[in-house]
Amino acid sequence: MAYHCKDCSYRGTKSGQMGECLACGSYNTVQRSMTFNEQPAPKKWRLVLLFALWGVLIAMVIGKLVH
Ligand SMILES: [Zn+2]
Repeated sequence: MAYHCKDCSYRGTKSGQMGECLACGSYNTVQRSMTFNEQPAPKKWRLVLLFALWGVLIAMVIGKLVH
């Protein structure tokens, strides 16, 4: 579980025993599941795929210009 403090905007993977913020001691924290943090991973893959497709496209255009 990850948590995000609303008072000091601290983000951590561990909170206090009562769910308090380790940085400022506030109880105004929001628990977040790990699945929320895993969301950026597919975006990275999509970006890599996009760059690969652009690379192929540019290679094809350059190949046509050379011949
Ligand atoms: Zn805090």
